[in-house]
Amino acid sequence: MNGCIFCKIVTGEIPATKVFEDEHALAFRDLDPKAPTHVLVIPRKHITGMTSIEPEDEAAVGHLFSVATAVAKSEGIVRSGFRAIVNSGPDAGQSVYHLHMHVIGGKAMGWPPFPGD
Ligand code: 5GP
Ligand code: ZN
Repeated sequence: MNGCIFCKIVTGEIPATKVFEDEHALAFRDLDPKAPTHVLVIPRKHITGMTSIEPEDEAAVGHLFSVATAVAKSEGIVRSGFRAIVNSGPDAGQSVYHLHMHVIGGKAMGWPPFPGD
């Protein structure tokens, strides 16, 4: 999709530190990591976000979970634990409108996600 930063990473127009890729998905390190491991897992296909997933996308979207686990294994954070997050819309802080799963780990995390409360 024109102007989409993650589509440009898919095509190679914008460089990224890739950690995994296959026919349907790509995983690369976040530019502004929030944890020792912070990898983004995306479908190659442009899907605007979680609320734009169509029935024909479900296999490719489900595959993102397998890729996230493969990344967690290669990052060595399966035993220590990790979080897979999809931010959807303004309250969640979605800033890039190409579906992506954050895979975060390597450090203990807090819960729930409202630091000010
Ligand atoms: P969101 O806030 O939409 O859930 O997450 C978008 C993520 O994309 C942010 O964590 C941000 O740091 C990351 N990001 C934005 N632009 C780029 C980029 O050009 N390259 C990489 N590797 N990450 C990016
Ligand atoms: Zn895109």
